[in-house]
Amino acid sequence: MDESLRELYQDVILDHSRHPRHFGPLAGATHKGEGYNPLCGDRVTIYLLLDADKRIADIKFEGKGCAISQASASLMTDMLIGRTSDEAQTLMGGFLHLVKGEVDAGELGPDDRETLEVMAGVSAFPMRVKCATLAWHTMKSALEGGETAKNS
Ligand code: ZN
Repeated sequence: MDESLRELYQDVILDHSRHPRHFGPLAGATHKGEGYNPLCGDRVTIYLLLDADKRIADIKFEGKGCAISQASASLMTDMLIGRTSDEAQTLMGGFLHLVKGEVDAGELGPDDRETLEVMAGVSAFPMRVKCATLAWHTMKSALEGGETAKNS
Protein backbone atom coordinates (compact mmCIF):
# COMPACT_ATOMS: atom_id res chain seq x y z
CA MET A 1 0.00 0.00 0.00
CA ASP A 2 1.57 3.31 -0.98
CA GLU A 3 1.64 6.35 1.23
CA SER A 4 -1.31 8.18 -0.27
CA LEU A 5 -3.52 5.10 -0.03
CA ARG A 6 -2.45 4.54 3.53
CA GLU A 7 -3.55 8.07 4.24
CA LEU A 8 -6.87 7.46 2.56
CA TYR A 9 -7.61 4.41 4.64
CA GLN A 10 -7.34 6.17 7.95
CA ASP A 11 -7.96 4.26 11.14
CA VAL A 12 -11.38 5.81 11.50
CA ILE A 13 -12.41 4.53 8.08
CA LEU A 14 -11.05 1.05 8.73
CA ASP A 15 -12.78 0.93 12.08
CA HIS A 16 -16.14 1.94 10.61
CA SER A 17 -15.82 -0.54 7.76
CA ARG A 18 -14.91 -3.41 10.08
CA HIS A 19 -17.42 -2.54 12.76
CA PRO A 20 -20.21 -0.66 11.03
CA ARG A 21 -22.54 1.32 13.31
CA HIS A 22 -26.28 1.11 12.91
CA PHE A 23 -26.07 -1.81 10.49
CA GLY A 24 -29.19 -3.85 9.81
CA PRO A 25 -32.87 -3.46 9.05
CA LEU A 26 -34.95 -0.88 10.90
CA ALA A 27 -38.35 -1.96 12.16
CA GLY A 28 -40.90 0.81 11.74
CA ALA A 29 -38.86 2.78 9.22
CA THR A 30 -40.85 5.59 7.61
CA HIS A 31 -38.46 6.14 4.69
CA LYS A 32 -36.20 3.90 2.68
CA GLY A 33 -33.73 4.43 -0.14
CA GLU A 34 -31.60 2.08 -2.20
CA GLY A 35 -28.38 3.05 -3.88
CA TYR A 36 -25.96 1.35 -6.23
CA ASN A 37 -22.58 2.48 -7.48
CA PRO A 38 -21.91 0.52 -10.69
CA LEU A 39 -18.31 1.78 -10.91
CA CYS A 40 -17.35 -0.20 -7.84
CA GLY A 41 -20.31 -2.49 -7.22
CA ASP A 42 -21.24 -0.90 -3.89
CA ARG A 43 -24.80 -1.31 -2.67
CA VAL A 44 -26.45 0.43 0.23
CA THR A 45 -29.97 0.60 1.62
CA ILE A 46 -30.84 3.38 4.04
CA TYR A 47 -33.73 3.16 6.49
CA LEU A 48 -35.01 6.28 8.24
CA LEU A 49 -37.47 6.79 11.03
CA LEU A 50 -38.65 10.40 10.96
CA ASP A 51 -40.70 11.77 13.82
CA ALA A 52 -43.49 14.35 13.53
CA ASP A 53 -40.96 17.22 13.51
CA LYS A 54 -39.08 15.65 10.59
CA ARG A 55 -36.26 14.79 12.92
CA ILE A 56 -34.32 11.61 12.29
CA ALA A 57 -35.29 9.54 15.31
CA ASP A 58 -33.40 6.54 13.99
CA ILE A 59 -31.42 5.52 10.94
CA LYS A 60 -29.87 2.23 9.88
CA PHE A 61 -28.24 0.87 6.78
CA GLU A 62 -27.53 -2.39 5.04
CA GLY A 63 -25.26 -3.06 2.14
CA LYS A 64 -22.03 -4.40 0.88
CA GLY A 65 -19.17 -2.98 -1.05
CA CYS A 66 -15.74 -1.50 -0.58
CA ALA A 67 -14.43 -0.22 2.73
CA ILE A 68 -14.96 3.41 1.75
CA SER A 69 -18.62 2.96 0.85
CA GLN A 70 -19.47 1.05 4.01
CA ALA A 71 -17.42 3.29 6.29
CA SER A 72 -19.07 6.35 4.82
CA ALA A 73 -22.53 4.89 5.45
CA SER A 74 -21.59 3.98 9.02
CA LEU A 75 -20.12 7.41 9.72
CA MET A 76 -23.16 9.08 8.19
CA THR A 77 -25.70 7.16 10.25
CA ASP A 78 -23.72 7.97 13.38
CA MET A 79 -23.92 11.67 12.58
CA LEU A 80 -27.51 11.93 11.48
CA ILE A 81 -29.39 10.51 14.45
CA GLY A 82 -31.26 13.34 16.12
CA ARG A 83 -30.84 15.78 13.21
CA THR A 84 -33.68 17.31 11.25
CA SER A 85 -33.98 16.51 7.57
CA ASP A 86 -32.86 20.08 6.79
CA GLU A 87 -29.75 19.60 8.90
CA ALA A 88 -29.10 16.31 7.12
CA GLN A 89 -29.18 18.09 3.77
CA THR A 90 -26.77 20.75 5.05
CA LEU A 91 -24.36 18.08 6.28
CA MET A 92 -24.55 16.33 2.94
CA GLY A 93 -23.82 19.58 1.10
CA GLY A 94 -20.74 20.15 3.23
CA PHE A 95 -19.61 16.56 2.82
CA LEU A 96 -19.85 16.80 -0.98
CA HIS A 97 -17.61 19.87 -0.89
CA LEU A 98 -15.02 18.06 1.25
CA VAL A 99 -14.81 14.90 -0.85
CA LYS A 100 -14.35 17.03 -3.96
CA GLY A 101 -11.35 18.60 -2.29
CA GLU A 102 -12.89 22.02 -1.89
CA VAL A 103 -11.75 24.23 0.96
CA ASP A 104 -15.17 25.80 1.32
CA ALA A 105 -17.32 23.30 3.20
CA GLY A 106 -20.56 25.23 2.95
CA GLU A 107 -22.44 25.59 6.21
CA LEU A 108 -20.66 22.83 8.12
CA GLY A 109 -20.01 23.62 11.76
CA PRO A 110 -16.46 23.04 13.04
CA ASP A 111 -17.30 19.79 14.88
CA ASP A 112 -19.14 18.30 11.93
CA ARG A 113 -16.36 19.35 9.63
CA GLU A 114 -13.79 17.61 11.79
CA THR A 115 -15.84 14.40 11.80
CA LEU A 116 -16.37 14.42 8.05
CA GLU A 117 -12.83 15.41 7.17
CA VAL A 118 -11.61 11.83 7.71
CA MET A 119 -13.28 11.08 4.37
CA ALA A 120 -11.77 14.07 2.56
CA GLY A 121 -8.80 11.98 1.40
CA VAL A 122 -10.98 10.45 -1.31
CA SER A 123 -10.80 13.75 -3.20
CA ALA A 124 -7.46 12.56 -4.59
CA PHE A 125 -9.13 9.44 -5.98
CA PRO A 126 -11.99 10.40 -8.33
CA MET A 127 -13.18 6.79 -8.60
CA ARG A 128 -13.56 6.67 -4.83
CA VAL A 129 -15.66 9.80 -4.54
CA LYS A 130 -18.72 7.91 -5.74
CA CYS A 131 -18.07 5.22 -3.13
CA ALA A 132 -17.97 7.87 -0.40
CA THR A 133 -21.05 9.75 -1.55
CA LEU A 134 -23.28 6.73 -2.26
CA ALA A 135 -24.78 6.54 1.24
CA TRP A 136 -25.44 10.28 1.31
CA HIS A 137 -27.19 10.34 -2.05
CA THR A 138 -29.22 7.32 -0.97
CA MET A 139 -30.15 9.02 2.29
CA LYS A 140 -31.25 12.09 0.33
CA SER A 141 -33.45 10.09 -2.01
CA ALA A 142 -34.95 8.32 1.01
CA LEU A 143 -35.77 11.68 2.59
CA GLU A 144 -37.25 13.01 -0.61
CA GLY A 145 -40.02 10.59 -1.16
CA GLY A 146 -38.79 7.12 -0.28
CA GLU A 147 -41.72 6.70 2.02
CA THR A 148 -42.37 3.11 2.99
CA ALA A 149 -45.84 1.66 3.03
CA LYS A 150 -47.23 2.10 6.49
CA ASN A 151 -48.43 -0.98 8.30
CA SER A 152 -51.88 -0.34 9.63
ZN1 ZN B 1 -16.61 1.44 -3.62
